[in-house]
Amino acid sequence: MRVTWAADGGVWRLTFRLDPEDEITGFCADGQPLRLATNSFRVELPRAPYDIHPDLRALAAWTVVAPWTRRAIVFDRPVSPEFAAAIQSGWGIEAGPVGGTPRSGGRLAISYSGGADSAAVAAMLPDAPFVHFQRVSHPRVPNRWTHYRADVLASLAAATGRELTVVRSDLEFTLAEPRPGYPEHHAVAAGALLLADELDLGGLAFGYELGSRWLGGDRYLLRYTPDNLMWSPHGAWGRAFAAAGLHIVLPVGGVSEAVTMRLALESDLREQVRWCLRGVNGPCGTCGKCLYKELIQAAVERRPLRTTVAPGRPVARKWQEPPPYGGQEMIEYGCARVPGIEDTLFGRAAGFLGATEESTAWLDRCYPPAIEEIPEPWREQVRDFVAGEVGFMSDDEARRVETWGMS
Ligand SMILES: [Zn+2]
Repeated sequence: MRVTWAADGGVWRLTFRLDPEDEITGFCADGQPLRLATNSFRVELPRAPYDIHPDLRALAAWTVVAPWTRRAIVFDRPVSPEFAAAIQSGWGIEAGPVGGTPRSGGRLAISYSGGADSAAVAAMLPDAPFVHFQRVSHPRVPNRWTHYRADVLASLAAATGRELTVVRSDLEFTLAEPRPGYPEHHAVAAGALLLADELDLGGLAFGYELGSRWLGGDRYLLRYTPDNLMWSPHGAWGRAFAAAGLHIVLPVGGVSEAVTMRLALESDLREQVRWCLRGVNGPCGTCGKCLYKELIQAAVERRPLRTTVAPGRPVARKWQEPPPYGGQEMIEYGCARVPGIEDTLFGRAAGFLGATEESTAWLDRCYPPAIEEIPEPWREQVRDFVAGEVGFMSDDEARRVETWGMS
């Protein structure tokens, strides 16, 4: 794999070329097969930046091209020996050319999506600036996803009144299948990486919560993942970001989506929180994400489910079948707390799971090891916030995390 950045004002364009051993179907770090659509993308920064450290340029490129790289990657500027070593040890990929010294930075920014998880992070870190990724169309790939309202999410981020940089990029269209999206989950940070020198960033906070960090999350089911290679500090990606002087920070890594939902709804950002990618004047209320989040919100607010979606609809189908489910801990939490759940589209799931308030009480508190892995400059602030607003799991509750998936 060979990658070349070209800058024109604030627009950075990356072109990449596959080597003979590279393949157009690759794999995301979470195991999802990904088929390549095109070999270029752009990242629009709001200002023309000066020199960007080669390790940042290289890592921004790596967040996109990693799935399709088999043996070696050649960057357009020499990367530090430390960064090359992180790529070698994390992926078994030879990275070069090698030269120069590593970088470091001071501030912490938030990779802000506008959803409840990142709003909870924002509530914890009231002085941290936001970097928001906005999807834009790719000149060479037709956009069949016009219902995805990235512009609405960007304007909600602006309405928060926080220090904000919006980065516009078409990098999601490098992916043909399963659909446009981040090739690696870390590609959401491509703009933050290119801005890290200008903003003097030493850390980037993401809204990944307990499920994503410790319980496998999303495409993994029911598995305790202390060595999560995407989000643990000692995983391949954690080490690559640290080598580039931009530490991955997960302020809500120890709390469930019930806690992030509560923190977001109690925060100043309540009016700007939006997890739905489809709605314009509010969440659409009918997509899979809306259903899942509505279950959590109803549980937090102790009220009946508000939805017009019937159990027979395609979006409700998976809840008519037995577990396991993605994000199952939150389905258990919601089914145990929402009044009248048995008469909703989650009724059958509730019957299968048999969860109770007592059996899901651990999801109201923080898993302590998540605090210990926050880099030292920001650990105390997060610990104090969690101690005051959430509280910590007992040893017995922590064991619920550590035995998740072993029944
Ligand atoms: Zn929706």
